[in-house]
Amino acid sequence: MISFNKVSKVFPNRQVALQQVSFEINKGEFVFLVGPSGAGKTTILELITCEEKPTTGMVSVAGRVVNRLKPSQVPYLRRNLGIVFQDFRLLPQKTVYENVAFAMQVVEAPPSLIRRRVPLLLELVGLHRKANDLPQQLSGGEQQRTGLARALANDPLLLLCDEPTGNLDPETAWEIMNLLVQINNSGATILMATHAKNLVDRMKRRVIAIDAGHIVRDDYRGGYS
Ligand code: ADP
Repeated sequence: MISFNKVSKVFPNRQVALQQVSFEINKGEFVFLVGPSGAGKTTILELITCEEKPTTGMVSVAGRVVNRLKPSQVPYLRRNLGIVFQDFRLLPQKTVYENVAFAMQVVEAPPSLIRRRVPLLLELVGLHRKANDLPQQLSGGEQQRTGLARALANDPLLLLCDEPTGNLDPETAWEIMNLLVQINNSGATILMATHAKNLVDRMKRRVIAIDAGHIVRDDYRGGYS
C-alpha cells in the first residue's frame, strides 16, 4: 500500500527532514508513526499525499510511484486517501452533514450516492442525531468524529491521521481510537502519527519510530518507547 525506498527529503533552506528512510506498509495494517517534534512525521505524511516530493529515493502509494506523478494525476491519487487532522479543519459555515457531503461533492459523486452514504457514515461515527449542527455546536470529540466521517466519505484505501487525538481529553481520545480500530477491521489501512504514548502502548500495533529524520525502530507489536 505504501512503500518508501531510501527516501531523503531536504527542504530548500537545506533543512534535512528525512534521511534514507525505507519501510513498507501492507494493505490492512494499522501503523503508528511516533517520534519527537521535528522528527519528520509530518514530512512522511506530506510525501504520501504528494504535497511534497522526495529529494532522493522512491515513494509509492496504492501502486503509483508518487515521484513521477504529474500535477494533473495528483487528485486521482488523493481520492484513495482520507486524512484526519489534529485541528479537525471542518468548514465552520456548513453543518455536520454538509461537511461530509462536501467531500463527496468535490469528487463529483452522484447526488443519489451522497444522500445514501452520508447518513451511513454519520451512523458509523455515532453522529446521526447531530447531522444538522454546525461545528461550533459540537464538542471536540464530535468534531473529530465529523472529521473521521469526512475522511471516509470516498471509501479510501488508506487513512492518514496526523495527531488525531492531540486536541482531545483521554476518554474521548480512546473513543476515537476505538472507531479507528473498527474502520481498520473493515479493511482500511491506517497510518497514524501521534505523541499519545498511552494509546500506542495500549494498542500493541506496529510502531515505526522516527528521530531526526531516521527510522530508529520498527516493531510489529510495539509500544511507544
Ligand atoms: P514532525 O511532524 O515529526 O514534528 P516535520 O516533518 O514537521 O516533523 O519536520 C521535520 C524537519 O523538517 C524539522 O526540522 C522541520 O523544521 C523541517 N521542515 C518541515 N517542513 C519544512 C519546510 N516546509 N521547510 C523547511 N523545513 C521544514
